[in-house]
Amino acid sequence: MPSYICHILPILCVLVFPALFTQEQPKLLLVSFDGFRWDYIYKAKTPNFSYIIQNGVHVKQVTNIFITKTFPNHYTLSTGLYAENHGIVANEMYDSVLNKTFSMNNLEIYDSFWWEEAYPIWVSNQMQGYKSGAAMWPGTDVKIHGMFPSHYMTYNGSVSFEYRINQLIKWFKSEQAINIGLLYWEEPDETGHMVGPDDPKMKKVIADIDSKLGYLIVQLKTEGLWDKLNVIITSDHGMAEVLQDRIIELDQYIDREMYTLVDHTPVVAILPKEGKMEEVYKALVHAHPNMTVYKKEEIPDHFHYKHNSRIQPIFAVVDNGWALLQNKSDGFLLGNHGYDNTLQDMHPIFVAYGPAFKKNYFKETMESVDLYPLMCHILGISPLPNNGSINRVLDLLDSTDPSSQTKATDSYSWVLGAVFGIVIVAVFLVIFIKQVTLSQLHTVQVPQSEMTQPLLEG
Ligand code: AMP
Ligand code: ZN
Ligand code: ZN
Repeated sequence: MPSYICHILPILCVLVFPALFTQEQPKLLLVSFDGFRWDYIYKAKTPNFSYIIQNGVHVKQVTNIFITKTFPNHYTLSTGLYAENHGIVANEMYDSVLNKTFSMNNLEIYDSFWWEEAYPIWVSNQMQGYKSGAAMWPGTDVKIHGMFPSHYMTYNGSVSFEYRINQLIKWFKSEQAINIGLLYWEEPDETGHMVGPDDPKMKKVIADIDSKLGYLIVQLKTEGLWDKLNVIITSDHGMAEVLQDRIIELDQYIDREMYTLVDHTPVVAILPKEGKMEEVYKALVHAHPNMTVYKKEEIPDHFHYKHNSRIQPIFAVVDNGWALLQNKSDGFLLGNHGYDNTLQDMHPIFVAYGPAFKKNYFKETMESVDLYPLMCHILGISPLPNNGSINRVLDLLDSTDPSSQTKATDSYSWVLGAVFGIVIVAVFLVIFIKQVTLSQLHTVQVPQSEMTQPLLEG
């Protein structure tokens, strides 16, 4: 055997054998269509949602977290924590310790302080050596625990869906590929607020989202990612129809001088002025049959919405479809969310497709806190402590898919490959040493006869 083969073969074995036994790193794309209620797919023709459902999994009722607003629920999807534990307790917040305000409508949201009571999945993923990509997902353009996603976009609602997905595909295909992508889209929430979820105009918006999903599927197929990627399509909350005759006005019961309004309808956070706590509470607690008012410490445990300094001393929540304004002149939205998270109207869509998921599988219910451990399991990364449970959602996974096994299996297959590689190297080394020894024996014999020759001649 030529000696260069003896040198190259062992190196090839060490490189190739582990690769043969190692799974490709699982990949995941998480998509949120803001305010896509669980039953919207039945309101319009949605062939692309049907395509995913037929080839993947569909969970009918996802119980999201209280309060059913955008920022708290997106941070729950990213962390597996209830709002009182992740700290994004509302779209509008006030921290009385530091006298800071958070509002979706200003730059306060870029202050890391608000986000650092938790570690979102993109931060844990990067801390474990992987790369993440995000297109407008709430929180992904904020530095959290010293980190941005490996690739991200600064929030700009006018950037098209197509641009967002094309960027993510580029990052999934780049040399230093991401293993998780997070994609956010503002509809059907915006239209739902304007016209109400039951308005016929919603059909057009839902059909448009379905065609966006179609674009996503076609692009993933064209780029060769469709059968490799796990795709989860979900949302933060649903939407309820609000009627003109269901408005409760705070001005009818309390003087504006007595309190600061921190968060708005339909879940109202009230900070009474100094010394006014009891007066404000008494004025509101029995004020209206469709409004429930709590002192912070009385908020029912099942809301998981009490143990955080950002939750205000008085908290009011109105019944489904009602609005709670200071005054009717403030104007109201025909559709809204934020209400009790046990209401079906507040529940989001959940469908998923990919190598990790079962095919054509239907599940009645799940909790949105379970998505984080599910995603960590699919990616093979270690989850941080959370309020979810992987065991409640394991049935969604295809048990024959290697990526749905635990990370230990991945390292086991790598070790198996490496052992095979080492055995092959050892065999070649033995052959190599044998060959060298034989050829040395041969070369040693020749000079002996040459040396003895003159002596013989002499
Ligand atoms: P909501 O009031 O709960 O319905 O919030 C939905 C709105 O939040 C969207 O229509 C967007 O305008 C806004 N939004 C979503 N993501 C972000 C973000 N990352 N930064 C600022 N605003 C956002
Ligand atoms: Zn939302
Ligand atoms: Zn909304």
